Amino acid sequence: MIYDMDYETLPREALEAIQLRRLQATLQRVYATVPFYRKRFDDVGFKPSDLKSLEDLRRVPFTTKQDLRDNYPYGLFAVPMENVVRIHASSGTTGKPTVVGYTARDIETWATLMARALSAAGATRGDIIHNAYGYGLFTGGLGVHYGAEKLGASVIPISGGNTKRQIMIMKDFGATILTCTPSYALHLAEVAHEMGVDFKDLKFKAGLFGAEPWSEKMREEIERKLHLSALDIYGLSEVIGPGVAVECLEAKAGLHIFEDHFIAEIIDPNTGEVLPPGSAGELVFTSITKEAFPVIRYRTRDITSLNAEPCVCGRTFVRMNRVSGRSDDMLIIRGVNVFPSQIESVLMEIQGVEPHYQLIVDREDNLDRLTVLVEVGESAFSDKVKTLQDLEKIITKNIKEYLGVSAKVKLVEPKTIARSEGKAVRVIDNRKL
Ligand SMILES: [Zn+2]
Repeated sequence: MIYDMDYETLPREALEAIQLRRLQATLQRVYATVPFYRKRFDDVGFKPSDLKSLEDLRRVPFTTKQDLRDNYPYGLFAVPMENVVRIHASSGTTGKPTVVGYTARDIETWATLMARALSAAGATRGDIIHNAYGYGLFTGGLGVHYGAEKLGASVIPISGGNTKRQIMIMKDFGATILTCTPSYALHLAEVAHEMGVDFKDLKFKAGLFGAEPWSEKMREEIERKLHLSALDIYGLSEVIGPGVAVECLEAKAGLHIFEDHFIAEIIDPNTGEVLPPGSAGELVFTSITKEAFPVIRYRTRDITSLNAEPCVCGRTFVRMNRVSGRSDDMLIIRGVNVFPSQIESVLMEIQGVEPHYQLIVDREDNLDRLTVLVEVGESAFSDKVKTLQDLEKIITKNIKEYLGVSAKVKLVEPKTIARSEGKAVRVIDNRKL
């Protein structure tokens, strides 16, 4: 179902004309209203009027998370506070959060984008949306909420936590669409199982899962356990929140980026150079309609690639492939680049292993040591010790084979790795570098 037929199916040429016009207006505006951007542009001798084509965007300096921190809390806002109607923040990995603001029109834009995303998952006015994203400073909860209302669906603002109650409510209220993080979706499946509730008997038809990277194997697991179509949704508060890109039900192969509002580029994370179409690299976004908090060439640190092939659904927006990792949470272990999602893919290939794992990195005698804690299923754990040892050996061998890194694999009992109601903690890096 395409919510915004006029925009989502624009011929490429018409789309690019809109992008150019909006980009020019955005650059003019940030240059006039945000001292940070004016200085950045001046430093490299760039004037907004220099931008004659979309290609010229390459001349504009990047913005980083550090820039957002340095201008905490409101330094990058492009409108007076009296025009700001909402403030969100994302938890920083260290110290102060990253603060973003919205005008009334920004909220309207965001709601429309989320309505598009929910429609791409097949949601209509008749659907009941169980929204288990956290409500609060985090953009997940309210982002989905406003989109669901804009669509005209019925939204249950359940937020995160209190999982047993969630199961009861999804059963009693007859929810048809589920929205939460992929790890929480699997947690819901576990708790439902304990309670003797089978997702087969619930009414869910689709789910939008995001806010953390996940794999194709995890999709299969979620679809099998929750009996629904599991779609990937992408967004980050710096850019707008959820609803920057979404998979369509028809193809389930990459996320359409809402390009009439955001320009996406893929760069080499080391050199900053824009990479040729189809290459994997760091995703960079420029917002072209936002008023309160425009971002110019914002480096997401997410590693992915873009696919410009036409899609069966009819949308003409480019698709981003699943985020395969982050250029900054990439672990380098004895010189080998390791993404947690790669370990996950290995684990999901193995029978009897649960998708709950944790990587612990230590440094002893100047050597990195990777320990992978892996939960095994109830049935595997009740098996003989010999079987568990064999399982450990297989995982160790496969990690070595696929990633080229030696790891110590430790199997742990079901449900011993801490479950988070939001993002899963996949890596504990104890190295002091
Ligand atoms: Zn599509």
